Amino acid sequence: MQCDQYSIINSHCKIIKYILIIEDSVSLGNHVREMIDKYFSFRCDIARTEIQANEMIRCKRYDLIITDVYLPDSSGNFLGKLVSSGLRLIVMTASENDDLRSGILTLPIIDYVLKNDAKTLVDYLINTIQRLNSNRSTVIGICDESKTSRHVMAQLVKSQNLPYIEFSNGQEVYDFIVKENCKMDVLLCDYEMSKMNGLELIRHLRHEYLACELPILAISASDKPHLTVQFLKAGANDYIKKPFGNEELCTRLNLTLDQFYANRRNRALRAELERAATHDFLTQLYNRNFFFTQIHHITADAIRQKKPYGILMIDIDYFKQVNDTYGHPAGDAAIIHLAAIIKNTARTSDYCMRWGGEEFLILIPHTTASELRKFAERLRSAVEKSEVCVVDEKISFSITISIGGAVGLNEIAKEMIVEADALLYQAKKAGRNCVKI
Ligand code: GH3
Ligand code: MG
Ligand code: MG
Repeated sequence: MQCDQYSIINSHCKIIKYILIIEDSVSLGNHVREMIDKYFSFRCDIARTEIQANEMIRCKRYDLIITDVYLPDSSGNFLGKLVSSGLRLIVMTASENDDLRSGILTLPIIDYVLKNDAKTLVDYLINTIQRLNSNRSTVIGICDESKTSRHVMAQLVKSQNLPYIEFSNGQEVYDFIVKENCKMDVLLCDYEMSKMNGLELIRHLRHEYLACELPILAISASDKPHLTVQFLKAGANDYIKKPFGNEELCTRLNLTLDQFYANRRNRALRAELERAATHDFLTQLYNRNFFFTQIHHITADAIRQKKPYGILMIDIDYFKQVNDTYGHPAGDAAIIHLAAIIKNTARTSDYCMRWGGEEFLILIPHTTASELRKFAERLRSAVEKSEVCVVDEKISFSITISIGGAVGLNEIAKEMIVEADALLYQAKKAGRNCVKI
């Protein structure tokens, strides 16, 4: 089996950035437009009557219509006409009247929302628009033996701007995700299936993916006692009993998606924070904090394997003069330039750090004094031969570096740094632009 054996249906997915608000209350219409504009800076038009709305829809291609149910000039079945023109609708209603609600829900709309409280309404609309746009790249797996059930779920998933793939049993999903390593973000999964039922499938999938990585909504018509608990304990994020109303499935799916996106944002934010805490902003090399939090792993490895490691301390010569002659931005350019040479000269297994100011440190695992000397000499020579170009200022100049290096199996890296630093001082005293190991 290959990933492309199952086609992702996504021709219905599109970005939402041009919105029409149909609302006869001037203050509410303006408020909704103002808030959407503030949040997304999308284009938003307002129509106050049905005639106006029809005219605007005739002339422009809106990605989304947010509409009131009743308009002063309504000729009846206004919503039905909008839906049959293939427009995506969010319906705002002032009443939670059951007849009205069930009438609205027979239409293939995105959702309806109460407009009694302006803040709740706006928060809901913003969250929904944001979710609809995120949904465009979130693939839903629909797994059910019944073609009719799959069709019902597919229609609902389509209304939420979600791409989807259909599977007719658990084995197909398992092969798709685990054996073929194909991508799916959220799974809607029925219980009773001949080849690998929903419960077995979830148990297998949870060996590979956490609930936050691949949320699963289990669905079943079975009356077996304890099935809900069995599903939840097996790792389903939620459980829905058949027959379900579209509104229930939609609401539960949306809650799951909101959690999925929040988790994804948190993971990205955490990675960003970790990177910021361990990297130098100017050069993107590791910073001193990285060194002190990671060094014990590296030295412990070296000692366990009885393989000496090396430390090079590198300092730009007469750097104060660079700043004084060419200005501080040129000094920054020289630091970035040296960092790039360090990165290009070092191996991927070496740890390159900006130690502070114009001073750099490289930690080289598994090396000898002669290898360290060769490496340092190569670096020194590469810097000497290169030119720092400051494009904006239209100037270029050259710099040199001095290097002190220590090699050994010292568990206390700080002692190695002190040694390398003392040798760097000797290199400076010996006239600079030289290496002392
Ligand atoms: P030596 O050859 O002995 O190393 O002399 P030096 O002039 O390089 O050393 P010194 O320590 O006297 O001066 C270092 C200068 O580096 C002083 C400081 O203003 C400058 N500096 C430190 N960090 C930065 C930075 O991020 N950007 C720039 N442009 N300059 C920096
Ligand atoms: Mg210096
Ligand atoms: Mg210095």
